[in-house]
Amino acid sequence: MEALKKKILTDGAAYGSEIVKVDSFINHQIDVAFLNEIGKEFARIFSDVEITKIITIESSGIAIAVIAAQYFNNVPVVFAKKSESRNLDPDKYHGEVYSFTKQKVYPIMISKKYISPNDKILIIDDFLANGKAALALNNLCEQAGATVQGIGIVIEKGFQPGGKLLREINNIRVESLAIIDNIDNGVITFRD
Ligand code: 5GP
Repeated sequence: MEALKKKILTDGAAYGSEIVKVDSFINHQIDVAFLNEIGKEFARIFSDVEITKIITIESSGIAIAVIAAQYFNNVPVVFAKKSESRNLDPDKYHGEVYSFTKQKVYPIMISKKYISPNDKILIIDDFLANGKAALALNNLCEQAGATVQGIGIVIEKGFQPGGKLLREINNIRVESLAIIDNIDNGVITFRD
């Protein structure tokens, strides 16, 4: 998505050789008009498959998924929670994710009420790095017997192994709106 690549270059920043900062429009302040364009693009790319639900993970995935859902006939959005709370249903699917940014393992969970074997799911997230978050979300859907139609990623870091892990090893359809091939001294290079 050319507009996204342009936005990353103008409004984003690279930290070291691995981290991309886009908190002026996705991860902290949210550019709603721009997320609408992202939502439309996901809907265009996945227009060949039926989607009954969008699954994401708190917190950054929520805004992207909710805006995108409006372009998928307002299907419900379910976000995996990262911590227990008294108002979370005790009957739930569990997974574990190693966080690339926080460098620690955290649990994820979704109430069994909100994924069913009839669901045809699109998983959405902001970044794909090592693929741990997306794979854990895929695993929760598998536990529920639901069909994962694909994974939509806003920014894939193609120099990290997540894309290969999901596409080649786990045979999952992954569509990324921008793929970064390299970060060198703060300079971001995209895949064509
Ligand atoms: P993975 O599980 O693929 O290793 O990492 C994906 C998750 O880590 C995403 O949900 C995202 O929140 C976070 N993440 C990974 N790399 C980056 C990055 O370069 N920038 C930001 N802002 N988040 C990242």
